Amino acid sequence: MKLAARVGQVTPSLTLAISAQAKAMKAEGIDVCSFSAGEPDFDTPDHIKAAAKKALDEGKTKYGPAAGDPQLRAAIAAKLQTENQLDYQAENTIVTNGGKHSLYNLMVALLDPGDEVIIPAPYWLSYPEMVKLAEGTPKIVDTTAENGYKLTPQQLRDACTPKTRLLVLNSPSNPTGMVYTPQELRAIAEVVVERDILVVSDEIYEKIIYDDAEQVSIGSLSPEIFARTIISNGFAKAYSMTGWRLGFLAGPLELIKAVSTLQSHSTSNVCTFAQYGAIAALEGSQDCVEEMRQAFAKRRTYILDRLKAIPGLTCPEPKGAFYVFPNISQTGMKSLDFCKALLDRENVATIPGIAFGADDCIRLSYATDLPTIEKGMDRLERFVRSHL
Ligand SMILES: *Cc1c(COP(=O)(O)O)cnc(C)c1O
Repeated sequence: MKLAARVGQVTPSLTLAISAQAKAMKAEGIDVCSFSAGEPDFDTPDHIKAAAKKALDEGKTKYGPAAGDPQLRAAIAAKLQTENQLDYQAENTIVTNGGKHSLYNLMVALLDPGDEVIIPAPYWLSYPEMVKLAEGTPKIVDTTAENGYKLTPQQLRDACTPKTRLLVLNSPSNPTGMVYTPQELRAIAEVVVERDILVVSDEIYEKIIYDDAEQVSIGSLSPEIFARTIISNGFAKAYSMTGWRLGFLAGPLELIKAVSTLQSHSTSNVCTFAQYGAIAALEGSQDCVEEMRQAFAKRRTYILDRLKAIPGLTCPEPKGAFYVFPNISQTGMKSLDFCKALLDRENVATIPGIAFGADDCIRLSYATDLPTIEKGMDRLERFVRSHL
């Protein structure tokens, strides 16, 4: 069948494919240690589930406004005001079917054919594909381990052309776990303002940070950068609600209205009773978030200690999210061969860095229990040592 050219340009998600292979091996009874998860391994907190169940029982099962329940939009605006120092009203926000949907809708609402979007690599694998689906042009800028996988202001300046519309920032980052410092953000913000482009700040991992890392939203740094910022966030990672499909965008009114129009002709409102779970997540106790963060912190310490002890792997210390992104080049393998061999020989599932634009690295998620991490690291260590 002849399909549209736009789908031919995009690659199916490699992370989902490897997770699927690992799951299939597990189903066959093979003892697989999986570091491939892109989602927290905890159940959704009970009070959030209870709120959705109550809404369901109360008949909150009908169409709602395309931009989201007014109470949820108000709660999102309040959260952005108090937690992120961003002066948004409810009308500056829109509820979407997840952070992924937020970003996709943003690209479709913003880009004309040929408009350029700067994406620092390693990047979350969906960014370039979304830009292409919206007929924009992704401009990949490679960052280095020496710079902690962070874009420098000079790199940003050099990457800007008259066609540049947007910079995609993701801090804390998937896949590297790096977190920009406030000073680094300030320097990036200056270039965004100087070049008069926009920045979308994907803050989906904002709550999952460690040690001395500080979460600052780039939009809070000055009125000039605020006017050029779009916030993308959601409930999936902080509240372990990946399957609920709940995210949001916040930004200039004109843009939010355009995204609302798009949604009104494509997805309409996000599942009505699910939105009540989101309200409970924002307005209820945040203890659940901290409990999950502490569990991640323990695993992170363990996995970093183990990685440091494996000769041949190098890795800047991640400060956020639940991923480590070691460099494997000393094994002489590229990422896909490495991950395939590791899965075949040691039953350990990881994600090849090539999926994130970094073929010398692999991504390990520690969103899994400690015993699995311990066993998996034993196997990874044996595998790497046998290849040095
Ligand atoms: C998980 C993730 C998202 C959004 O996920 P949703 O499930 O669609 O809310 C967005 N950005 C990054 C970098 C992610 O890892």
